[in-house]
Amino acid sequence: MTAVSERICPHCCNPIYDDDALLCHFCGNSVGTGSSGAMGLMRGAGMKVFLTVLACLLVLGMILQMI
Ligand SMILES: [Zn+2]
Repeated sequence: MTAVSERICPHCCNPIYDDDALLCHFCGNSVGTGSSGAMGLMRGAGMKVFLTVLACLLVLGMILQMI
């Protein structure tokens, strides 16, 4: 017997039975739990690192042009 993947909405505390649901059926807020949330967080961090590296490269390019 497998456990029912029931989640609780952090906003309205209603149970969410749909495992793939990203939004709460009751209040419409996003349910930020599960592996998908962690993946989204990692993707966001990766994007931030990419933008930071891009900015550093641009600054480096400007410094090299000044020399
Ligand atoms: Zn809710």
